[in-house]
Amino acid sequence: MDKIAPHATAKTEHFDVVIVGAGISGVGAAYHLTKQCPDKSFVVLEGLESFGGTWWMHRYPGIRSDSDLYTFGYRFKPWTGAPIAGRDEILKYMGEVIAENDLAKHIRYRHRIHTAQWSSKDNQWTLEGERSDTGEPVRFTANFLWMCQGYYRHAEGYTPRWKGMENFKGRIVHPQTWPEDLDYKNKTVIVIGSGATTATVVPAIAGDCKHVTVLQRSPTYFIPARNANELADQLRELEIPEEWIHEITRRQILKNQDDFTRRSFQEPEAVKQDLLAGVRAYLGPDYDIETHFTPRYRPWRQRIAFVPEGDLFQGIASGKASIVTDEIESFTGKGILTKSGKELEADIVITATGFNLSVLGDIAFTVDGKPVDYAQTVTYRGMMFTGVPNMVWIFGYFRASWTLRVDLIADFVCRLLNHMTKTGKKKVEVALRPEDRDMKLLPWIDEENFNPGYMMRSMHLLPRRGEKHEWQHTQDYWREKTEIPLTDLTGAEFRYS
Ligand SMILES: Cc1cc2nc3c(=O)[nH]c(=O)nc-3n(C[C@H](O)[C@H](O)[C@H](O)COP(=O)(O)OP(=O)(O)OC[C@H]3O[C@@H](n4cnc5c(N)ncnc54)[C@H](O)[C@@H]3O)c2cc1C
Repeated sequence: MDKIAPHATAKTEHFDVVIVGAGISGVGAAYHLTKQCPDKSFVVLEGLESFGGTWWMHRYPGIRSDSDLYTFGYRFKPWTGAPIAGRDEILKYMGEVIAENDLAKHIRYRHRIHTAQWSSKDNQWTLEGERSDTGEPVRFTANFLWMCQGYYRHAEGYTPRWKGMENFKGRIVHPQTWPEDLDYKNKTVIVIGSGATTATVVPAIAGDCKHVTVLQRSPTYFIPARNANELADQLRELEIPEEWIHEITRRQILKNQDDFTRRSFQEPEAVKQDLLAGVRAYLGPDYDIETHFTPRYRPWRQRIAFVPEGDLFQGIASGKASIVTDEIESFTGKGILTKSGKELEADIVITATGFNLSVLGDIAFTVDGKPVDYAQTVTYRGMMFTGVPNMVWIFGYFRASWTLRVDLIADFVCRLLNHMTKTGKKKVEVALRPEDRDMKLLPWIDEENFNPGYMMRSMHLLPRRGEKHEWQHTQDYWREKTEIPLTDLTGAEFRYS
């Protein structure tokens, strides 16, 4: 295709709904729209060259889910594999959802959106962006905007700036942008960080490396266990249909997670001891669990990663990997000097240090010509925002699988769209009710409840929450699964025109 000059005017295409993002959220949104609002026209705009979002972008060795696919999968398509799955399996599953439901025709890849402008005069959004392959400008209008753009910047992960980084002679790599040519065979590697990515990448590369040292500032909780679901396997032996197995296994997992979350709040010390016992079982009584695997926070304040077959701990037990719990003083030519004075040598340093949070896909929003500052808005259930009409954002769960919320919000959006069609309304906006006027407004997330680094670093950019649970993203699937479907769409918090 000829490259079109940047000043060329884009032709405008109109749809009832525009979905931004073709990750697990956007593909789920598209599926539900076709089933629950079959008469609505829609398009999915995706900046990358394929679907999958997180699972398309991340390619580091061993990349896998850290929660089970029975609940990370959609409620409408059975998961038939082992609970923890790798990138390829997840992409295959999503590809099947697209093929089985004829969704491909709705998705436009390489369409990156830069601006979204709402006009109350026309009751519609105008989205402008460009094709990432040709630079061609693109423009769409839509009555409703469904943001499924995830929560972090895909182009680049978060790497803190440490003293002396420029002196390091080896390679510094962030897992989010893993170089295809990275040769770690027989190399000495340091992995900075203690989260799910570290737990994944270390066992995947340790066998090939000379040695891998995990350098963590503070420890994380893990759940090491077999990558199998006994109930699902048993039901399969009984030749129960996969649809039933999916539903039953989901219910079992969700019940167990609910019990676990409750226990984490009610008896955090007992839960902590149970988690530490799981790690001790792999590392033995002489390993210094206190220093390296005993977090300073209560269980569940940060996501707890599942470690299939305890592979991370097997790597440590075998001597191929080791843990240093210390802080970085500076980089040196040969590696890293820690605050306690240890010098760790490395050919490669992998910075598994997290994400850069991105609020609404780095899209510049305006409403009737005024720029939207999301930090000044108040969120309705973590999905709509005061002052921003006809727009929903999918922000999933951290304590339960993200996708549970995709299905739940999709039901809500489809119900809302059908309600508006039935009542002839063109615009819906959430607004605080008279009884909410004195409600205290707080940061997006309660730091006492859940406090991962990327959230804490960017809290000032996120919308505010109110004290009442309907004005926040509670992260509580078990409450929302009952409350969201029962939402009264004629309630005073919804303003229609
Ligand atoms: C390595 C890793 C493992 C994870 N494992 C789990 C897990 O096991 N369980 C779990 O619940 N969660 C997990 N998560 C969290 C995970 O990100 C979410 O669960 C889920 O995949 C997010 O899906 P999404 O579709 O909402 O967003 P994303 O996967 O981030 O996809 C968003 C898409 O929107 C596109 N996009 C963004 N902005 C624009 C724009 N301006 N224009 C056009 N397109 C745009 C992006 O290109 C991307 O394709 C994991 C995250 C990571 C990084």
